[in-house]
Formats: sequence, structure tokens, C-alpha cells
Amino acid sequence: TDPARIRNFCIIAHIDHGKSTLADRMLQITGVVSDRDMRAQYLDRMDIERERGITIKSQAVRMPWEVDGDAYALNMIDTPGHVDFTYEVSRSLAACEGAILLVDAAQGIEAQTLANLYLALENDLTIIPVLNKIDLPAAEPDKYARELADLIGGSPDDVLRVSGKTGEGVEELLDRVVELMPAPVGDADAPARAMIFDSVYDAYRGVVTYIRMIDGRLSPRERIQMMSTKATHELLEIGVSAPEPKPSKGLGVGEVGYLITGVKDVRQSRVGDTVTTSVKPASEPLPGYTDPKPMVFSGLYPLDGSDYPELREALDKLKLSDAALVYEPETSVALGFGFRCGFLGLLHLEIISERLRREFGLDLIATAPSVVYEVTTEDGRNMEVTNPSEFPTGVKVAEVREPVVRAAILAPKDYVGTIMELCQSRRGNLLGMEYLGEDRVELRYSMPLGEIVFDFFDQLKSKTAGYASLDYEPMGDQAADLVKVDILLQGDQVDAFSAIVHRDKAYAYGTLMTGRLRELIPRQQFEVPIQAAIGARIIARENIRAIRKDVLAKCYGGDITRKRKLLEKQKEGKKRMKMVGRVEVPQEAFIAALSGE
Ligand code: GDP
Ligand code: MG
Repeated sequence: TDPARIRNFCIIAHIDHGKSTLADRMLQITGVVSDRDMRAQYLDRMDIERERGITIKSQAVRMPWEVDGDAYALNMIDTPGHVDFTYEVSRSLAACEGAILLVDAAQGIEAQTLANLYLALENDLTIIPVLNKIDLPAAEPDKYARELADLIGGSPDDVLRVSGKTGEGVEELLDRVVELMPAPVGDADAPARAMIFDSVYDAYRGVVTYIRMIDGRLSPRERIQMMSTKATHELLEIGVSAPEPKPSKGLGVGEVGYLITGVKDVRQSRVGDTVTTSVKPASEPLPGYTDPKPMVFSGLYPLDGSDYPELREALDKLKLSDAALVYEPETSVALGFGFRCGFLGLLHLEIISERLRREFGLDLIATAPSVVYEVTTEDGRNMEVTNPSEFPTGVKVAEVREPVVRAAILAPKDYVGTIMELCQSRRGNLLGMEYLGEDRVELRYSMPLGEIVFDFFDQLKSKTAGYASLDYEPMGDQAADLVKVDILLQGDQVDAFSAIVHRDKAYAYGTLMTGRLRELIPRQQFEVPIQAAIGARIIARENIRAIRKDVLAKCYGGDITRKRKLLEKQKEGKKRMKMVGRVEVPQEAFIAALSGE
């Protein structure tokens, strides 16, 4: 295809503003999916995406569109809108010349609208502002058209109005895409260079790599080379998604499509890498490749210890399609054998544990999420701590550094006081505040990531009746007065409950956990003290009183079979018990205490 007849664009929006629905209408209107085959969120292929109505993996589709009798190929890339997946959004943006900035006409601009807009501007994309859901009775298109025009410049009249649901305005939008967005440019005679913007594992086809051609041409049967590793593979198939895979004789400048080489692991075909040919390799890779870095860690343990090998296999499988997931074996006194896993964020964690449950039938318990702390001891050692129980003990800690994020919160102005209070209680520093229109405010904070992973978003939602939206991005780290609080049962540490918290919050954490455990752990033959401690210093204490009666006491002099039965029954109950020192704790108690039930 002549590059002048290609348009590559993506749709960016806050979650739920209707990207996937608009994409559905485009597929239908351009005729690539027939009305008969249409189903909602056509491009969201994972079960979990469909059920939750969110997009996790980006997808690209090629659609034919005619303007004034000229045939164009529109490559649409549907991007995920959630904060955890910003990395994927930015890769998708780099494959486009333009972006449709979609805003719900009943909601207005939200935190991820801004975050995505900034990403698009950084990538020099042409932006077409569009209000969606104009069919809703609550829509206020005039008001939000002004807000959008204020934000990106231009006149409110330039803001298109569509309904992804009814299809109204969508044809005009496609015409505008052709008219306003630049055609791709590249050097057709130069050595081939293609950017990988997505890589997915398919059980039948192996790894399917989505690419955007920049220069030159790639054809089937050629040997291709991944520029980051110099690894070469035979190009078995190359083609476009329309949206079913459609093999072609090759892809040239500006085209978007997929390739298959027979590799089995997405790490061999990494997002952001440049593909070239081994016969005539390019000298410079395309810019922009950073490994996604796990930000949030949690221990995942099978409820039934015998499921451990299955858990390992399941993680290995998920890793094939998710290069951002990391894990290594770990053992816990309280929970047995499991894995310490690293995630991009909380939603990523939630999605992985849900897929493990659903697709692999594993019952799991997850320890409280933790961020990565950098600890320097006074004897000059430096370590990264992702598991609070590994926080150094017995040596003096010189400094602890924690990751900090720049958080943007958008909400109606009535909630400003409430939000400020919440952010302050989470050690936030106000960086700035701005009005967007008459009644919406953007608050910018720097805040420790560790405070955000601890149910910040839930709190924010509940304190603002669901009106606030949140987006955040890493902004380095800072030294903080952080301590490890241990929980001890009769003097023995219960590793799964150790937490790294700010010194001011150590007491609150200690009393909370000791209180919970006192309720949950059954009485034993002896008294059991439950303590919270920082190092050797006890900061909170509860007691579980001893059981007076010996279970066998009432059997003295009775018949022996009754005694045996009683002992048998006790053994049964012990199966799901864990020993912490001399103390027997039902596994359910650990689970309940961890989940805060
Ligand atoms: P995404 O998260 O941006 O991909 O949003 P979805 O496309 O999944 O849409 C979120 C919700 O808004 C779904 O319940 C859609 O049915 C609904 N929705 C999307 N577009 C429209 C529209 O134009 N009008 C109305 N009334 N609802 C819409
Ligand atoms: Mg979606």
C-alpha cells in the first residue's frame, strides 16, 4: 500500500469513556466485521477483559475507508486505559501518527484523559478531540467541548461529537482521521526497520508479534533479526489483522501488521525492540525501549500446599505472554511454599491472581502488596527489599529509600478538602492545583507509592462518592523514616505479617494486627502473647488466655476407644493447622488476618 493512503491512529481515553465501543462501531461501519459476527468489545479477547469490560492488551486492526473515491487503509490500535498499563499505551502511541482523544460527554476530562494526552503529545501525535456518548440524557457536550478546547487549544467547534453506542458521528470521524492525520513517512529503500509494539502468546501459533513498519520492507521466508539481542529467526508469516489474521506477501513503509517466527516466549520478541533483516541489517535501532519495571510485590501461596508445582507451571505459562510479570520461589513459616511476584501495579496483580484462579483453578492467598525499598545498613551494605520479612535485622539501618509517584487526582471542587485530608494522611505533598472548567479541579501530589498500594484508590473513591479519578507515574525515590514492624506469637515471628511502615504509623499497624489475631487464633493449652515489635522493642501486645480444661480430662477412667476417637478427631483438625513455634494456628486465621476480614 502507498504510504500516502495509510493512516495509523489510536484511541486514547479514560477507562470506561467508550474506546472499545467506538472501536466496535468502526469495525462495523467499515465492514470488517459483519453485523452478524459483531459482539460487544470485539477486540477484547481475554475472558477477563470481556467480563470486567476493560482492555488489557492492545490490539491493532486494519480497516478500509473511502474518501472522495480514494481508498485508504486505516490502522486502528485499541489501547488499554488503566494506569498499570501505561507502558503498553506508550508503545502503541509510538506506532501512530495520530490519536483520537475520546471523552465521555457526561463525565468530562478525567485523570487518565490527561495522562494519555500528555503521552500522545510527547510522541508528537496529531490529536482529534471527540466527545462520546452524546446519546446519554446526562451528556453536556457544550460544556465539555469548551473544557477540551481550553485544554488542547483550538475552538470548541472542532470537537467532534459521536456516540459509539448508536454510531452517530462515527463516519464523519473516520473522514476526519483521513483528512487531519498525517500519512506515515519512511524510507522504502533503506534497510528494514519495524517497531514491535505488542507481543502476545497464542497457544496455536506461538508468539504473535505486532509491528509498525518504519523503513524498508519485510517479506515471508526472510531471516529477520531482533536488534536488541541480535537473535535471528525465520519469518514464517507476515500479514495484517483485519481483524482476523490475513497473511500477505510483505509489509512496507507505514504499514501495521503482525509477524510469526515460531518463537515460544514473548521475551524473545520484546515490545519496543526493532526488527530488521539479517541480510541487510539496519545500523541504528529505533528509539525508545525500556523494560517495564515491577513496582508492586506480593507473595502468592497455594491454599493447598500440594498445588505448588501447578502454581509454578501456571506462572511459567502466564510469563510467556506477559514480559512484565516476574516471580521467584519463596517460603513462609505461616504460608508454606509460594512465589514472590512482581507486578506493574495493583490492577496487574489483581488480574494475574484472578487468571491463576480462573484459568488454572488455583486457590491462592496473597500477602499484602509491598513496594521496593532500598535499604542501606550502617556497615555500608545496600539491598533491595521487596519482602518486608527480609528487611535487615541485627544491624543498624542507615537509610531506607522508598519509591515516590507523581499523582494526579481529578474531582469536582466540592471534594477538594476531603481529598487533601486523605492525601496528607498518606504523606502526600501538594505540588499544584488547577481548575479545569468551572467545577472540576486537578490536584497534583507527590506521594509514596507504598501509601497508594495500601487501598488508597478505594478510600479515594469512597470519600468522593466515586467522582475522583486517579493517575500516577513514577518520580524517583526518597529517604523516609521507615521501620519494620514484626508480629510475634509467643516470641516467634510470623513472617507473612511483617510490614514496612512509616514510624508514625507503626503503632497503629501493630495494634490493628495484634487485635485481629487475638480474635482469630483459638485458645491453646497455654497462654499465648501476641506482640508487635520494632526490632527488640515491643510496641503492642495482646493475650490469648489458656484453655483450662484438658480435652482428655473428662475421659479419665472412661473407655479407651472414646479417648482414641477424640484424639483421632483432633488430628483431623490439625491438618490445616500451621505451627508457629509451639502455637497452632488454623490457616484460615492467617488468611482472614491478611485480607482484613
Ligand atoms: P473503554 O473502557 O474506554 O474501552 O469503554 P467501553 O467501550 O468498554 O465502554 C464503557 C461503558 O460505556 C460500557 O458500558 C459501554 O456500553 C458504555 N458506552 C460506550 N460508548 C457509549 C455511548 O456512546 N453511549 C452510551 N450510552 N454508552 C456508551
Ligand atoms: Mg476497552
